[in-house]
Amino acid sequence: MAKHYDLIAIGGGSGGLSAAERAASYGARCAVIETGRLGGVCVNVGCVPKKIMWYAAHLAHALDDAPSYGFKLDYFDFDWQKLKVARNAFIRQLNEHYLSYLCGAGVELIRGFARWVDARTLEVNSEYYSADHIVIATGSRPQMPELPGAEFGVTSDDFFELNNCPPRVAIVGSGYIAVELAGMFHTLGAEVTLLVRKDQVLRSFDAMLREQLMARLREDGITVLTQTQVRAVARRVSGSLSLHCDGQANVLNVDTLLWAIGRDPNTDALNLPAAGVVMNPNGSIPTDPFQNTNIPGIYAIGDVTEHFHLTPVAIAAGRRLADRLFGGQTDRRLLYENIPTVVFSHPPIGAVGLTEEEARRTYGGAVKIYQTQFRPLYHAFTTRPIQTAMKLVCVGPEEKIIGCHLIGDGADEMLQGFAVAIRMGATKRDFDDTVAIHPTSAEELVTMR
Ligand code: FAD
Ligand code: NDP
Repeated sequence: MAKHYDLIAIGGGSGGLSAAERAASYGARCAVIETGRLGGVCVNVGCVPKKIMWYAAHLAHALDDAPSYGFKLDYFDFDWQKLKVARNAFIRQLNEHYLSYLCGAGVELIRGFARWVDARTLEVNSEYYSADHIVIATGSRPQMPELPGAEFGVTSDDFFELNNCPPRVAIVGSGYIAVELAGMFHTLGAEVTLLVRKDQVLRSFDAMLREQLMARLREDGITVLTQTQVRAVARRVSGSLSLHCDGQANVLNVDTLLWAIGRDPNTDALNLPAAGVVMNPNGSIPTDPFQNTNIPGIYAIGDVTEHFHLTPVAIAAGRRLADRLFGGQTDRRLLYENIPTVVFSHPPIGAVGLTEEEARRTYGGAVKIYQTQFRPLYHAFTTRPIQTAMKLVCVGPEEKIIGCHLIGDGADEMLQGFAVAIRMGATKRDFDDTVAIHPTSAEELVTMR
């Protein structure tokens, strides 16, 4: 006989934990099923360890800049292994935190891998569990290409296992992970080649951001090869790898190859057909705007769906779903417009709303662009002439702001407040009427002409 709950979340990552915790706060009897470490990708092999490495790279840049500010630094060395040990210890603390978070919320943790038996029943380690509401929050895993020797390459998961910085790294891909890890590897000591199969990185971002970032990557000393694809990989006697490519390189010899070509949803082993839940051809789960799948009582949130694959999106979707199911908020759902996002490149990128291209496609001549580019005060004193660039995309006679795109130091922290204003329908006049904070880079956003 199956043990019954009001709600079961499959997956103890950002989405599943949030849905179960919020549902339990309304008095629902909840369980989370997790096969791996609590916290999912974000905590274990995503945002958190990645941001720690980004901070390390950020510090390395600051040390480079320090002499320009009068500091005498004769020597500095970076101990990757020491940082790894400290980072892992921090992450273990977070895993424990999530365990007590679940206990505190009264949510039961079922350890193991869930498979569907029928639309209401799941099997985990030969035990059966049923629920009125089942939330699929199983996330995604790194994609591997199908080509000879692909298995010699590693993925972002393995990045966090490295004990030291490899001397020569090739990264294949052009999305968030490719540019973030290229920046970190390079700043922490590797010779990095980024292999991009088309013309640019971050193709879904505004053209200004793409162009600025491409220029920045190259100025920093990262080799960016566009229109280049790896066709085969071979391991040499020395242990290094030979990449056989089409495009701007024929053969490339590196110590580490990292695939960053996207992620696959974790749905293949769930036995979803037993529940009757339909999937897209790529395995992701389609939902309506309320996170309902095609089967009543079964929902999907986070990276397993087609939407933005970001931690706060998974969390927000999970909490709103629980508000709707157990909190009496029948219309509550996550609106997938104006989701702010940051790419932790060097310098970072922040973006919210429509790109200029998207806005022009939708609103044509009603679009007005405000744009600026400048050398921030900090870099007036450094030997790195790093520019900051900003763009506001406005529409209509009232110049409603429908897009904000930033690249430059501090863009990551700058965006959140502006995203609130844009979500509330701010116009260019509202920005102009806001008194600037001086001297900052952010003040340029309220003083653009
Ligand atoms: P996950 O976090 O993947 O959780 C799913 C969980 O389900 C996993 O723990 C898995 O073990 C478990 N599971 C799977 N199948 C089963 C099963 N059958 N039974 C039981 N358990 C199962 N987002 C940001 O917002 N900011 C960032 O800076 C950022 N950086 C990132 C860096 C990297 C390198 C990566 C890979 C991702 C990053 N992301 C970032 C994306 C973010 O991590 C994801 O969007 C987020 O973790 C998705 O949460 P989720 O709950 O949908 O899935
Ligand atoms: P992305 O989807 O961001 O980018 C992968 C890109 O790689 C594709 O868009 C494609 O770009 C290119 N690509 C695909 N297949 C191949 C191939 N066979 N050979 C060469 N290039 C290929 O995936 P990521 O893995 O970088 O990240 C996954 C998701 O995780 C992100 O979309 C994001 O949602 C999340 N994430 C968020 C972060 C953040 O918030 N800061 C950080 C890291 C991840 P093209 O078509 O242009 O070639």
